[in-house]
Amino acid sequence: MFRIDMSQESKCPYCESIFEDNDQLSKHIDKIHNNEDAIGTQGF
Ligand SMILES: [Zn+2]
Repeated sequence: MFRIDMSQESKCPYCESIFEDNDQLSKHIDKIHNNEDAIGTQGF
């Protein structure tokens, strides 16, 4: 069975942290970057 390398690592678009799978990345974003995303578009 082949596995694609691109699917193995998930990179956070916010802090560029690398996670083993997409599930951990999803939890990371939801836990850490959720507040930033919840603010909306204030333009920093
Ligand atoms: Zn992050």
